[in-house]
Amino acid sequence: MGFREDGQATLEWVARYLEDRRELPVLARVAPGEIRAQLPRKAPDQGEPFSAVLADLDAILLPGITHWNHPRFFAYFGITASEPGILAELLIAALNQNAMLWRTSPAATELEQVALAWLADLLGLPASWMGHIEDGASTSTLAALATARHVAPEGRSVVYCSEHAHSSVDKACRLLGLELRKVPSDDEFRMRADGLDLSDAVALVATVGTTSTTSVDPVPALADLCRAADVWLHIDASYAGSAFVCEEHRWALAGCERADSLVVNPHKWMFTPIDCSALFTSRPDDLRDAFSLVPEYLRTSDEDVINLMDYGPALGRRFRALKLWAVLRVFGREGLQHTIREHVRMAEEFERWVELSDEWELVAPRPFSVVCFRRVGSDELNEQLLERVNAAGRVYMSHTKLHDRYVLRLAVGNADTTDADVRLAWDELNVYAEELEAG
Ligand code: PLP
Repeated sequence: MGFREDGQATLEWVARYLEDRRELPVLARVAPGEIRAQLPRKAPDQGEPFSAVLADLDAILLPGITHWNHPRFFAYFGITASEPGILAELLIAALNQNAMLWRTSPAATELEQVALAWLADLLGLPASWMGHIEDGASTSTLAALATARHVAPEGRSVVYCSEHAHSSVDKACRLLGLELRKVPSDDEFRMRADGLDLSDAVALVATVGTTSTTSVDPVPALADLCRAADVWLHIDASYAGSAFVCEEHRWALAGCERADSLVVNPHKWMFTPIDCSALFTSRPDDLRDAFSLVPEYLRTSDEDVINLMDYGPALGRRFRALKLWAVLRVFGREGLQHTIREHVRMAEEFERWVELSDEWELVAPRPFSVVCFRRVGSDELNEQLLERVNAAGRVYMSHTKLHDRYVLRLAVGNADTTDADVRLAWDELNVYAEELEAG
């Protein structure tokens, strides 16, 4: 079979998958090693047809897939590989760009600037900021903190963040040899700004939309402290930054315009397939200073160009801007707003059901599309409940711990999630809770 036939079969496979995915168990049901045991230990000597890959995808791999692109994936943060994003990934692979230098891909280099300027405009970020696409927020935060370390006054080596900041901040500090100090949060899981002494600080990471509860740190107060102590302010808005596309969520943007850098992940809540993280900065020259390293074999005579390799840890860079651009064009501002509003509305509805029931309790405020809740009863009951609901396969949810208590999370974020999907999650929770309580 030729490329066209294989391509049509693959596109058909994807179309069928998108149509039928609701029927699949959201969480993979295989035991560790089960997939590996079914696969040959060596590559074939003779090449096989591509149809053999598709056949094994169905027969062997699919049972080992946890369906992140399922409308009832409510764990961690719900995400979406939308249709324009999926098609753009195919084009990205076909073009196989490596946008390390402007001349190695003028289009990918310039489209990245355009797509990120569009994104900044959609989110209400300052038009003067420069954006740079990374694989994930972990890399974006690493790049921001590496730059902060590079420009920090002599003798400073401490990074501050809230006790609810993502572990990517811990990892970046470990890699960079910086000391991390976790600041306690208030009763709504926001970093406390009072009494914070930043005199030894390289950077402060404020989170807008924390991983457990999506709480929003008090950025205006933290920005004041950073300004006074000459400290780099990095904002982790990986998840919640996408909500800025809606005016009613712009309250969470307050103070962000004073940041030195901010990360938002279009692959989290902006319907772009993994991987796509946007690192914005008001200090591109400092980023360039921290990262630029040009060996002879990469020198060019091009003038007045941006070489993207100069602004981050990676040399080789995929054409990720194409999928972001495709998503922004096909959704449009109104499409993005509508989908995010629907997610927030559905989460609000779920929150109301919890609130109205004596058997359930809410355990954190819900600023966006994640509800933190638990069944009234013990931690063990809630833990078993989550295991049972997830094993049944119709929905997938995850947990966190707040004030040392086991907490369930429902995160709405897939563009195809409907009211019926959220209702089904609620019904499953109630059925299995009653079953557990009945013994
Ligand atoms: N920051 C926050 C607030 C997150 O919730 C996450 C992941 O969920 C990350 C950073 C890390 O994101 P990535 O997987 O893109 O590195």
